[in-house]
Amino acid sequence: MEPTPEQPAAAAAPGEAPVSKKGAKKAEAKAKKEALKAQRAAELAAQAAAVTLEDDPAKDSYGDRKDTTSAFSPDAQAVEIRELDDSHIGKTVVVRAWLQNSRVQSAKMGFVELRKGGNWNIQGVVMASDNAPVVSRRMVKWITSINPESYIAVEATVKQPLEPVKSCRVSGLELHITKCYVLAPAPAMLGMTMGVASQPIVNFSDEKAPADDAEAAPKTETTVPAASMLTHLDNIAMHKRAPVQQAIADIRIEVKRFFRSYLEARRFKEFEPPCLIGAASEGGGNVFRLAYFGEEAFLAQSPQFYKQFEIAGGRERVFSISPVFRAENSNTPRHMTEFTGLDLEMEIKESYTEVLTTLEGVLLSIFRGLQERCAEEIETVRSVYHSEPLLLPEPGKEVRLTFAEAQKLLREEGPAEFANVRDDEDMSTPQEKALGEVVRTKYKTDFYVIDKFPETARPFYAKIDDSGATVGDGVKVTNAFDFFIRGQEVLSGGQRINDPAELEERIRAKGISPDSAGIKEYVTTFRQVGVPPHGGGGIGLDRVVAWFLALPSVHLAACYPRTPKRLMP
Ligand code: ATP
Repeated sequence: MEPTPEQPAAAAAPGEAPVSKKGAKKAEAKAKKEALKAQRAAELAAQAAAVTLEDDPAKDSYGDRKDTTSAFSPDAQAVEIRELDDSHIGKTVVVRAWLQNSRVQSAKMGFVELRKGGNWNIQGVVMASDNAPVVSRRMVKWITSINPESYIAVEATVKQPLEPVKSCRVSGLELHITKCYVLAPAPAMLGMTMGVASQPIVNFSDEKAPADDAEAAPKTETTVPAASMLTHLDNIAMHKRAPVQQAIADIRIEVKRFFRSYLEARRFKEFEPPCLIGAASEGGGNVFRLAYFGEEAFLAQSPQFYKQFEIAGGRERVFSISPVFRAENSNTPRHMTEFTGLDLEMEIKESYTEVLTTLEGVLLSIFRGLQERCAEEIETVRSVYHSEPLLLPEPGKEVRLTFAEAQKLLREEGPAEFANVRDDEDMSTPQEKALGEVVRTKYKTDFYVIDKFPETARPFYAKIDDSGATVGDGVKVTNAFDFFIRGQEVLSGGQRINDPAELEERIRAKGISPDSAGIKEYVTTFRQVGVPPHGGGGIGLDRVVAWFLALPSVHLAACYPRTPKRLMP
């Protein structure tokens, strides 16, 4: 029925019959009265709360604070959770950390878990007490209702728990909290909880799945759901806070440190190759272009030419740790559009095997160093991403196969589908992985070298083997090699051509004009001076970390993975 002007339906709730004008007025008055009543009740509650807080003898010992100046006892010692040991028992300390979770035991007692520095966590106990320092029930309630991942500061007495706290890394101590301030609160609802952030990522696609949220994601062994890489990256702070990511990031730092220290001890000198370059120098199409003062510039696809300029410039042995950019639309767990290259280049005295031996030494020192010095971090990663330890060769028993030997091994001992692989064609990724399995079974190592690649599989600057050796249908082999771990490439290297005429001939043979931009300047350098024989290699830092830990994707090893579809955060 249509309402008449005298019978407005304005006050009718959906599904209810319209009310009369008089009825509407009455309802309006009633609503007003109720709103006033609610307002009054809220004011009274606030007053009551103020009175209670005012009356709370512990009121200065807890609350939100931006500034903790004079908040803590002068004799309380500021410590990090990782520093706490038995020498602190009985002492008063101040700990700044994230509140990981909390639990109410009773109105008088609660527990919190504090975390900092990766996976260093400790249990905190808050117990109501009338004796100084007073802890009120209200304080217990307030502390146990702080939102997880808030940054807090507590003053506490360090005590030994009745039993070791199994859930915490610092299991033999606990903090009896007497003061607690929230310095930076987290929201009540986190975009991704620590529980979810600590589950293995199962989906690395850059495309948003129709139901891409933690609830819809596949359940893992525990009851906590796993999230996709997209969700992790959209919650970058929580992604990074997860102990597994902290451990990966720490291992990454160690890889760089071992790389640098091994080389510095052998008279290698560091230099910085440019990222901005004036030509797509290596001739490939996989280069990013950008506007440069009305001209075009490119992002470096590798420091190759610059390492060689250093050798030409008399630096003898050089290395660099630098970003490398690849404009490849490769959406695989092995590829990123930006990664970190660990590169070296050195003069050769007698044979290119000097380079191979140096690179083998670098990688073995990195892997052995990690196994010795990062056992805890490795264990943290393994607790999320299960893996077998990387099998390394006994000293003196390093495995070096020629490309032809590797293909023969694959044909004879690999899966049937690879029974016809050729000696003059580059290996596919499945072939490389299958070979990794064969080598592991046969030689008991996950780390090996494949040397003497056919020239068809190498760039123009690769030096061809002087012996004239060929594979397949007469394809010449090069003094160039790749290194593998767990069947995946982590390094490419070899001897470079240092004779300008030979270089020019190889450039032409690859269908590139020696006069093209970047190439011309490169070849000219070899004409300007006499450049000693030299060689080197490029290691992908992200891949070394990822495959050492047997992670499901190289994206997990990068600080901020860049892919064809993702530039944020
Ligand atoms: P691939 O064939 O796997 O794409 P590549 O032969 O192009 O690699 P090189 O140009 O020889 O690799 O680079 C040297 C090293 O850099 C590689 O052994 C690898 O560890 C790393 N690397 C190369 N491309 C990428 C990439 N897109 N993302 C991450 N690391 C990479």
